[in-house]
Amino acid sequence: MMRELYTQVIMDHYQRPRNRGTLEGADLEEHLLNPLCGDEVTVYAHLRDGKVADVKFDGRGCSISQASASMMTERLMGRSREEAEKEIRTFKAMMIGEKEFPAMDDLAALKGVIQYPSRIKCATLAWTAFQNGLDNAEN
Ligand code: ZN
Repeated sequence: MMRELYTQVIMDHYQRPRNRGTLEGADLEEHLLNPLCGDEVTVYAHLRDGKVADVKFDGRGCSISQASASMMTERLMGRSREEAEKEIRTFKAMMIGEKEFPAMDDLAALKGVIQYPSRIKCATLAWTAFQNGLDNAEN
C-alpha cells in the first residue's frame, strides 16, 4: 500500500513535471548525464538578490530521475542560496540513509530508491547538477 502510494507520487511528477522547460538568460545552467541509466537533466535558474528567483529543468530518462528533478524545483524555488545548498546536502544525506526523509512530503516517495543502489544516482542527478551550477554561478 505505501509502496503503491510512493509509486503514484513518482509517476505524478514524471507525467506532470513541475517547472519543466528552459530559462532564457539563466544565471545558472548545468547539464548532467547519468550514463549508468541513460538519464540526462539540465537545470536552469535565475538568481536575484541571493535567491533562487526561478528554477526550471529539462531532460529525459527514467521516472525516478525526472520525478526527482521536478520535486527539486518545488523545493528550491524562492530559497536563498544557502538554503538551497542545505536542501541539496540534506537530500543527498537522505539518499545514502544518513538522514530521515520528511514525512508527508513528495520527497518521501524516493525513500524506496535507497534499496536499489544503482538507482540512487538517478534520484540525485538534478540535485548534483544544481549544486554544480551554484558552484559555477557568479553571484
Ligand atoms: Zn535513471
